[in-house]
Amino acid sequence: MDGILKPAAGLPLPAGAWRRAAWLALALMATPAIAGVPVAVDVGHYLDKPGATSAYGITEFEYNHALAGVIAARLTTAGTPVRLIGHRGEMADLRARPREAEAAGAGFFLSVHHDSVKEVYLQPWVWQGRPLRHAEGFAGFSLFVSRLNPRLDESLACASAIGAALRRAGLPVATHHGVSSEGVARPWADEANGVYFYDNLVVLKTATVPAVLLEAGVIINRDEERALATPERRALTADAVLDGLQRCGVAAAP
Ligand SMILES: [Zn+2]
Repeated sequence: MDGILKPAAGLPLPAGAWRRAAWLALALMATPAIAGVPVAVDVGHYLDKPGATSAYGITEFEYNHALAGVIAARLTTAGTPVRLIGHRGEMADLRARPREAEAAGAGFFLSVHHDSVKEVYLQPWVWQGRPLRHAEGFAGFSLFVSRLNPRLDESLACASAIGAALRRAGLPVATHHGVSSEGVARPWADEANGVYFYDNLVVLKTATVPAVLLEAGVIINRDEERALATPERRALTADAVLDGLQRCGVAAAP
């Protein structure tokens, strides 16, 4: 499946140029938005297992819930209906998420997360009397697509478009996902725009519609967590998601 990014024999363009060319071609091929087709916005994790704990002691689920709400509002205001998935915090079955989205007629699946780092990089610290952990030196957004999703081309076109919009908004790409904590390689799908291949992510590989997972920023970085908690950063991220989905043909054009 990674053959889509390989140059034809005898054409000595550098890999980055091919990636850009491939992305442009894919973006142009993307299906035009169909009025009224909802985008599923999935709130990563759930109340019983809320994901990472931030540097200041807030769960990832809380951050995902808040950002997903802002993204949903932004898309809806711009004329793209949204189906929120997992927003009540009770959805333990990962496979049920894309299933519920597709049953509701969603044409695209976006899973919203906030990022942490491997255990080995976490440093203990105490804030307001509470022992917590943080890590410096990791920041920025990242996006993931699965080569097991049957609509990889469209997934990647949208992930690249969202990443490009986040970069235009001034956010850095998080570069620490090249190898998982179990040592599994996660190669770049589009390095410039912060998109990795992460084939076994359940919500991506079991979706039959194009699907992308967004890590909006690193909540165990104290400085970035402060930024991620602001309405301004959430609005900036939501605007970039809308812009990207418009450019890849999933959201209604402005
Ligand atoms: Zn997560």
